[in-house]
Amino acid sequence: MVEILRYPDEILAVEMSSYCNLRCPMCTQCQVDYDKKGFMDIRLWEKLIGEFAAAGVKYEKFLPFGLGESLLHPKAYEMLAYMFDKNKDRTIFGHIILHTNALLMDERISDLMLKYQYQIGALHFSLDAATQETYSKVRPGAELSRAVMNIVYFLKHRSQIPPKVVLQFIVMKRNFNEANNFLKFWSEVLTGLGLGFQVNYDWQPEMLRDTIFFKRENTWNPADLGQSEELHKKVAFGLGLITEIPKGRLLMSDEFVK
Ligand code: SF4
Repeated sequence: MVEILRYPDEILAVEMSSYCNLRCPMCTQCQVDYDKKGFMDIRLWEKLIGEFAAAGVKYEKFLPFGLGESLLHPKAYEMLAYMFDKNKDRTIFGHIILHTNALLMDERISDLMLKYQYQIGALHFSLDAATQETYSKVRPGAELSRAVMNIVYFLKHRSQIPPKVVLQFIVMKRNFNEANNFLKFWSEVLTGLGLGFQVNYDWQPEMLRDTIFFKRENTWNPADLGQSEELHKKVAFGLGLITEIPKGRLLMSDEFVK
């Protein structure tokens, strides 16, 4: 019997796959032992969601991912289809939020998500590059054009917002000089599709529309944190997102400081 936690206002995260299709040099995927990873058993997934449904448990946000790539799961389509179907009246999960590198989000998966788009709060796409040259440094072995094609397919066929799309660029030494290109590229794509958008450099203000997100790198080595903060501030200033470079940590709002 799966223990059911009755925290309907909380966020629930379930990691479908702790494997990833990539091994980006800055990621824990390169640091965690391969044999400590795995795919969630689809029967456990169905049991979990089925028991939530039967018990009347509702979580406002459901994150079907952890540190791996959920869409790599060999049964990803079936698992997502089961989740969407059980949640068709949004009685289990208010909003589903997925974070992916987009490379495996082919038309079949996208069409499934589009069918149930009313259940999705946001799709976060990890990109971190505007050219194949830089993409090869941050996502070795992967094709940027495939990720872009998959995202654009979803954007073109989406008929409501949410789901919001978050185009994420983590500011790193490997890619910081490409931030301008990234902003230009996605601004043109979104504008070309007639979509309004916002540009963030922190989680605040709330992402109410599609968002181009220049995120500070969370380094695993505390000694590098200062450098990543300085680089992040420099990029935000260079993009015109802030008018001066603050001495302390760059935060979007006072509310966030509290
Ligand atoms: S795609 Fe994301 S999860 Fe996978 S290795 Fe790269 S940074 Fe890590």
